[in-house]
Amino acid sequence: MITLAVQKSGRLSEHTTKLLSECGIAFGNGGAARLKAESRNFPIQILFLRDDDIPECVADGIADIGIVGANVYYEKARPLEIVEQLGFAKCHMAIAVPKVFNYKGLSDLNGLSIATSYPNILRGFLDENNLNAEIHEISGSVEIAPGIGLAKAIFDIVSTGSTLLANGLKEVATVLQSEAVLVAGENLSADKTDLLDQLLLRIRSVKAAQNRKYILLNAPNTALADICAILPGMKSPTVMPLAETGWSSLHSVIEEDQFWERISALKAAGAQGILVIPIEKMIM
Ligand code: ATP
Ligand code: ZN
Repeated sequence: MITLAVQKSGRLSEHTTKLLSECGIAFGNGGAARLKAESRNFPIQILFLRDDDIPECVADGIADIGIVGANVYYEKARPLEIVEQLGFAKCHMAIAVPKVFNYKGLSDLNGLSIATSYPNILRGFLDENNLNAEIHEISGSVEIAPGIGLAKAIFDIVSTGSTLLANGLKEVATVLQSEAVLVAGENLSADKTDLLDQLLLRIRSVKAAQNRKYILLNAPNTALADICAILPGMKSPTVMPLAETGWSSLHSVIEEDQFWERISALKAAGAQGILVIPIEKMIM
């Protein structure tokens, strides 16, 4: 049995539940108190916690692995390893100053007080850049600090920038890109490492499928060489003869980020009847 710590409720919880369900891991919601749940079909126990407590619980061995924002992982600085980037809850952490501040560069931060709930990440950034701003740690509503005279600048999570704008602030320096990550403690037993590997295979298969599409098309045999060059697939495209002589059907896998470019190139090369189908799982 492996124990996974996840956020009880918040920005990570819905995506986490969805990922586990796509990995074929079914579990209840932990009952009314929503503390822990055991999966019915995989030897995993889920602990529901505040996200801030997850790194410590995994480091202490109360949980073996956890899903948490990279921002929280770096802030807590526990002896844990990131075993997989999960690709959701993307955001970045930035320093922002009042819009009226005539900001020219990082050295303008010298001597300022900066409000944040992430003092460790901020200290690391200031030290790396030889800046001597003062860190003012507060636990929430960081963006109101300059307005009420608590600090001259802030360091916080930004996803859209609209909260900054609403508080008369502008972003001046990006410090960290963050997304949800799977973290693991340092000394997992052989049994638990084996379960983690099984879970990772499933997570990677789900992620790979999300980034790819299955594509089928018809083409005259004379165009096959050009079309195969556009469609590198997992090994190479599957080519099957059609009932109509001189024509073939071609099957392949195509990456989402090159999707439209490839489709245009395929049409130009003579492909017809192109079908694009989502892939549910792709075992790497
Ligand atoms: P908890 O009650 O568990 O302590 P929280 O209020 O600290 O929850 P959430 O707001 O649910 O945390 O955010 C969880 C994580 O989601 C953040 O640590 C961050 O990694 C990520 N995230 C993504 N976008 C945003 C955003 N716009 N604001 C805050 N967090 C975001
Ligand atoms: Zn939190």
